Amino acid sequence: MKNVYLDNAATTPMRPEVIDHMVQIMQSEYGNASSTHSFGRSAKTILESARKSIAKNMGCEARELIFTSNATEATNLILTSVVRDLGVRRLVTSKMEHHATLYTVSKLEKDYAVEVVYLPANTDGTIDISDLHSILADEKPTLVTLMHVNNETGALLDIKTVGDLCHAHRALFHCDTVQSVGKWDFNLHELPVDFIVASAHKFHGPKGVGFAYISKAVVLKPLIVGGEQEKGLRAGTEAVHQIAGMAKALALDIAELAHDQGYIESLKNYCWEQFELAFPGIKMNGSATFYNILNVTLPMSEEKAAMLLFNLDMKGIAVSRGSACQSGSSKPSHVLEQFVAAEDLKRPALRISFSRYNTKEDIDVLLDALKGL
Ligand code: PLP
Repeated sequence: MKNVYLDNAATTPMRPEVIDHMVQIMQSEYGNASSTHSFGRSAKTILESARKSIAKNMGCEARELIFTSNATEATNLILTSVVRDLGVRRLVTSKMEHHATLYTVSKLEKDYAVEVVYLPANTDGTIDISDLHSILADEKPTLVTLMHVNNETGALLDIKTVGDLCHAHRALFHCDTVQSVGKWDFNLHELPVDFIVASAHKFHGPKGVGFAYISKAVVLKPLIVGGEQEKGLRAGTEAVHQIAGMAKALALDIAELAHDQGYIESLKNYCWEQFELAFPGIKMNGSATFYNILNVTLPMSEEKAAMLLFNLDMKGIAVSRGSACQSGSSKPSHVLEQFVAAEDLKRPALRISFSRYNTKEDIDVLLDALKGL
């Protein structure tokens, strides 16, 4: 049986070059980057060159990057500090955000009584930003938090338009770019964003490491205290091998971006063409979506829907129903619920997400399995 991994929006396989690089660092660079002796200084050099490399690939300054354990932590840090320390009194978001954002927003609403405004969804799965201008017009201290690429549907946000609107009304803009870092050519200094977040495991790097971009124009306070690491903004001994692995993964992804994007897009197009032929009545959830995510509703009964992922898993095929954290649940996805018709929500939705390591053969295996159900 050939195992087929088509769940790259949940996480990606690590690049062998990244693993080699990390092993080499773990073997020979075990100093604590805060130590002043040669072992520590050497680890510090690796840490700071990783920061410079990421900054170069993201179009920002090294001092604007803070290393964290993942994007969830980075989002918690940013959202909490703007409310707690910078006087933000309103958060504007959407119900289609990842729970890393949604749960943080709810917590802040409860703990700090900030106003929360949810922008609605358009029928194509994008966020309806038509009221954003009038919402921000009163210039109440606000942070807008919207994701760049939706992790379930691939729906895209126009970062420039949203960021320009925010800045015209002196609102801060946090963009969850977890699904696009490594897959999109960022030039942060040309984008009107104050904060973005990333997790290395989404771009062929290791799990357990990510970063926050915090524009140099904004000064936050820490969520985790206990040391002076990361300019005092994120205490705790830096995971040098993880951070170096993340920098390497990003550098490789960006170097091969043009090629990989074309290749992955061709896989997605092939998949959709084959699905349309095999399943008349199939629906794509969202349109003009990001090139590595395809979300479809299959014309199958509710009974089949319930066992679909399990049956595919038995055949060694990994796809997802929504985000990985809710794949086991039978509740409709909180994202699809915002724009998919009620009767379609009863049918099985599949998120198929591709990477540079997939082939057309993987798609054929998935199709054959689905046809056999
Ligand atoms: N935001 C988006 C859009 C995601 O897809 C994910 C992970 O699935 C996260 C945030 C959280 O990432 P992590 O679990 O690595 O912190």
